[in-house]
Amino acid sequence: MEENQNEWDVIIIGAGPAGLTAGIYSVRGGHKTLILEKALIGGQVSLTDSVENYPGFISIDGQELTKKMKEQAEHYGAKIQLAEVKKIIKKENEFELETDEGKKITKSIIVATGSTPRFLNVPGEKELFYKGIHTCALCDGHFYKDKEIVIIGGGDSAVKEAIYLSNICKKITIIHRRDTLRAENAWQEKAKQRTNIEYLWNSEVMEFLGENKLEKIKIKNNKTNQETEMKIDGAFIYIGLIPQTKFTEVEKSPTGHIKVSEHMETSEKGIYAAGDCITKSIAQITTCVGEGAIAATFAGEYVDEIKTKNNK
Ligand code: NAP
Repeated sequence: MEENQNEWDVIIIGAGPAGLTAGIYSVRGGHKTLILEKALIGGQVSLTDSVENYPGFISIDGQELTKKMKEQAEHYGAKIQLAEVKKIIKKENEFELETDEGKKITKSIIVATGSTPRFLNVPGEKELFYKGIHTCALCDGHFYKDKEIVIIGGGDSAVKEAIYLSNICKKITIIHRRDTLRAENAWQEKAKQRTNIEYLWNSEVMEFLGENKLEKIKIKNNKTNQETEMKIDGAFIYIGLIPQTKFTEVEKSPTGHIKVSEHMETSEKGIYAAGDCITKSIAQITTCVGEGAIAATFAGEYVDEIKTKNNK
């Protein structure tokens, strides 16, 4: 008999490291598993050129790492489909998912939707996005060969992408709102060795200016309140990530991160969450894969309980 492609034991929303790991564990635990992804298999990780702190690889390309995870999930029988989940509707002992590819029924859900780049929300940013303003060095860095650019932010992403872009661009200025970086020491040390990376401390970008493309930025020194303008070819914004959790009504923090127990259970029985969309102190690929494994294990136990109940 043909398998019903709309009814699942576990549906995982998001195919980044957390979702793909959850897929591997779920399907190997004997549960019929579907992974839904709205856009990019691999999520944010696939937009980075080198991952150097994932065990087993001294350095691996982000796309290559997620390709391996995807192959592994599919090898063991997880199905992956491109679809965006619009709404989750609770039914007795199951959930109905409204997606742009139709309705799906599942006993359990793992939300692993990750996050998207945060923007500064200053004048000119929306208008000049992709016209000199970018959020992905790997995708758009090549437009700035031998040009002068700025990177806004002081975390791992800002410093790591500055190192990547320093091989392409003539000069990079990291603009940070404080006078110390948040980025891991290892990245800071590598950046120091690049002679074409400079820093502008205690500085905030107030406005992006240009007719049809970015020409200059207005910067304020937040210690002296002095405002200056800087001519620039391009700007890359790396000021953190926003969780993609609007479609679900489970309990969240004020920042929109999903609250979970140590079993990765959310406030709704049968819905679990893992990865960068949950509240946690360390957002790393390694933590995401651990959370994916935990979520899939307990989602599997929940599914087995329901199946036992239904057979009584
Ligand atoms: P992040 O760690 O949250 O850092 C964001 C940076 O942007 C901070 O320096 C912050 O300044 C600054 N910032 C935030 N809002 C700002 C605003 N409105 N205006 C100006 N500056 C602003 O974000 P991330 O670098 O994207 O990293 C996200 C997570 O992924 C982190 O947990 C990170 O460790 C992880 N990650 C890991 C790697 C790796 O290779 N291990 C690579 C990339 C990312 P303050 O410092 O003043 O708060």
